[in-house]
Amino acid sequence: MPSSDSVDLVRAWIASARRVVVLTGAGISTESGIPDFRGPQGVWTTNPAAEAQSTLQTYLADAMVRRAAWRSRMAHPTWTARPNRGHLALVELERRDKLHALITQNIDELHQMAGNSRERIVEVHGTVRRVMCWRCGQRSPMQEALERVRAGEEDPACRTCGGILKSDTISFGQALVPEVIDRAMKAAGEADLLLAVGSTLQVYPVAGVVPLAKDAGARVVIMNDQPTAMDSFADALMCGPIGELLPAVCAE
Ligand SMILES: [Zn+2]
Repeated sequence: MPSSDSVDLVRAWIASARRVVVLTGAGISTESGIPDFRGPQGVWTTNPAAEAQSTLQTYLADAMVRRAAWRSRMAHPTWTARPNRGHLALVELERRDKLHALITQNIDELHQMAGNSRERIVEVHGTVRRVMCWRCGQRSPMQEALERVRAGEEDPACRTCGGILKSDTISFGQALVPEVIDRAMKAAGEADLLLAVGSTLQVYPVAGVVPLAKDAGARVVIMNDQPTAMDSFADALMCGPIGELLPAVCAE
């Protein structure tokens, strides 16, 4: 656990900051029951096959992979997850008019459910709560597609054009959306404090917001339960339960 000194210090930095940019990763949602990917109990650490199933080319080419993907989407822990104390702390940060942008690597929409405004949120890896057609580009709610799976369709196709549907997330082998990444980078360059929470900061280009903000003069605070790839840029490192630390530093 960090000393109360570091909590007091970071709380004071946030109090004097005007444009806090927060970057969140899977670690903020584990308390809500959504497993992370690269942590010790993570999905890819314990089941390497899950990583292969998340590859775009395999998904588009292989109907068996898609059927397996639809079955696992049915059981996705996101459908029953609720925002936790960490998410709520970031709503408090927005209420205090400190939150310039909330960049998230998560696809669970728990920030929106907690109450952060959509226009502040930058979802760099998309959302699992929508599907996208790979032929016509149409987007629709995931729950509609899951209803069709429950009704017996093993691999529901786009109702408009018959194309392949996939969750509207960034799979392995899939390009990021340039406009979204640009938005994240621009916000990081405008920050006076960057708070990275629950991410190992290994995935580029998103992890690049840390050195970018640092170069632009922002203080950098990294909160994670294990070392990250960007610890050398941090003005403060906080290691401990996010559900306790984040409310402590975001409180007025
Ligand atoms: Zn379509």
